[in-house]
Amino acid sequence: MSEKEKPYYAETDIGPPDFRKMLPPIIERNYGKWKYHEIPRPGVLVHTSESGEKLYSVRMGSGRLVSTDYIRELADLADKHTDGYLRFTSRHNAEWLLDDESKVEPLIKDLESRGYPVGGTGPSVTSIVHTQGWIHCHTPATDASGVVKSVMDAVFDHFRNMDLPAQVRISLACCLNMCGAVHCSDIAILGIHRLPPIADHEKLGKICEVPSTVGSCPTGAIRPDPKNKSVIINEEKCMYCGNCFTMCPALPMLDAEGDGISLWVGGKVSNARHAPMFSRLAVPFLPNTPPRWPETVEAVVNILDVYAANARKHERMGEWIERIGWEKWFSMTGIEFTDKHIDDYTLAVDTFRMSTQFKW
Ligand code: SF4
Ligand code: SF4
Repeated sequence: MSEKEKPYYAETDIGPPDFRKMLPPIIERNYGKWKYHEIPRPGVLVHTSESGEKLYSVRMGSGRLVSTDYIRELADLADKHTDGYLRFTSRHNAEWLLDDESKVEPLIKDLESRGYPVGGTGPSVTSIVHTQGWIHCHTPATDASGVVKSVMDAVFDHFRNMDLPAQVRISLACCLNMCGAVHCSDIAILGIHRLPPIADHEKLGKICEVPSTVGSCPTGAIRPDPKNKSVIINEEKCMYCGNCFTMCPALPMLDAEGDGISLWVGGKVSNARHAPMFSRLAVPFLPNTPPRWPETVEAVVNILDVYAANARKHERMGEWIERIGWEKWFSMTGIEFTDKHIDDYTLAVDTFRMSTQFKW
């Protein structure tokens, strides 16, 4: 049995299998030798290698939480069209890898006839990465897939058509622990809690370890309460992160009115034209209004529309804001600038812009 044919479980069952054993032959042959790529139509990338070989990648939008039936269907489609080769991008799009141009159109027709959209390349909105939300996690301040579905329905035309100035990466994290990497997205949707946890003294001593609960708080807001065999929360110091609730289920903090959504803009990971940028606060709070979150959808669409109408070609959201200035951005979008936009974290002084040109 060759190295490549060995099943990955033959060596270990820890960690992911070695990706080199699953590369499509065309990628294996041209590994590290790709010269450039083009996007001939939305949803199709063509990578050309030094050897002249071309790899056609067809990008298909996909949900993040999927069923085994769906995965089996994709695997069957891969067997039918791409010799079994398929991959998922970091934004959970499915990408079909082909070495023959004539196979591209039949694949796209097959995908679209099943209701799977092709797009998300170049200056478009690609799939929205998100976290677990109410489906799975225990600390979410908002839902994940429900909000994302509502937003994506409203911006879906930008997935199919490359009609924006540049890529717009939208992300959602349902609490500020940020499994969703919302710190570096063009538009970030972030669930926030606004109330501290409430200690359930009855249960706490029985189901939680007090020292590790105290130690879990990054701001030192928890101290032991030996009298009640529980803990005391200093609400002034609490930043509503939910860390303590992860440690101790007797410190619940979910609240229908207090929890909601904030929007952040202008982050990016790319090094092109400008160094990577962090997302900055745009809208401090929007209520949780399932099942369709109209306030959040409206606010995201507004930010996207103003960007699409005013940014220059190739200019990412953060680059555009930096060029026009935050003051103008707030007035163009009609978003109110409030005291919540001012960073009052203890160590924020180190990051303040303190020149005479300081605006906000
Ligand atoms: Fe859980 Fe927070 Fe991650 Fe959402 S972002 S899945 S609430 S830890
Ligand atoms: Fe500390 Fe976070 Fe718990 Fe507040 S929510 S008490 S900041 S761990």
